[in-house]
Amino acid sequence: MTTRNQLPGTIYMNDIVNNITRIRERISKACRDNGRDPGEVKLLLATKTVPPERIKTALQAGHTLIAENKIQELKEKYEALKEIPHTNHFIGHLQTNKVKDLLKYDVSCLQSLDRLELAEKLHQRLLAGHKTLEVLIQVNTSGEESKFGISPDQAGTLVKQVAQLETLKIKGLMTIGLFSADTEQVRKCFRLLKKIQQEILALKVPGVEMQELSMGMSGDLETAIAEGATMVRVGTAIFGQRSTPDSYYWNENAK
Ligand SMILES: *Cc1c(COP(=O)(O)O)cnc(C)c1O
Repeated sequence: MTTRNQLPGTIYMNDIVNNITRIRERISKACRDNGRDPGEVKLLLATKTVPPERIKTALQAGHTLIAENKIQELKEKYEALKEIPHTNHFIGHLQTNKVKDLLKYDVSCLQSLDRLELAEKLHQRLLAGHKTLEVLIQVNTSGEESKFGISPDQAGTLVKQVAQLETLKIKGLMTIGLFSADTEQVRKCFRLLKKIQQEILALKVPGVEMQELSMGMSGDLETAIAEGATMVRVGTAIFGQRSTPDSYYWNENAK
């Protein structure tokens, strides 16, 4: 039922804080169940479609690691959020012609680096601005054409190429994985990302760090933590259902 203070399809501000608490409990439990330290798993808030006032509620509650999928949204919310200290990652498909904007809006980590062409564009811009940028390599672990990311067998090659670009600091890998109610099919994707991490570590590429595994979302974070996630990205379970379908964010062709 919709009440006076609640817009249709949205949730109360208090709920955002309660939801974060609940997610932190899920993270802690998953860590305990798998003999891991909860301090090893960071929570990133996926804020696509979420208006700035509601993101502010989360920031003011002390939760300051957030990420957008589209440059346009990053831009629109930038002024409103700027006064509250926070860390911005970027988790969406980045078009090469939007590189300049990414750097303008204080993004500290690009989690969706998936091709050399994009890395080279970033490197040129960063060099010119005397800056560096942390990146994760996005891997398509589900094999679905609708998902972005480098194919698993090309990941090592891309890491070696990106490692040559000294402005880009590789910190690890990111994946979205399969959406399925079948936990074991989802688990395969996360396990594959962990395996690729181990293979890349064995290459001992100079300057490359591989400790970060960004995987797991609202529906599958327990499975991701069991398989070694160091960062989970949560949207819906904190901010409520989105009206825009994920295909809009995940596949340019599916608009
Ligand atoms: C939207 C999004 C998430 C969060 O998904 P939820 O199911 O809403 O928790 C995580 N990662 C990426 C790349 C996303 O676009």
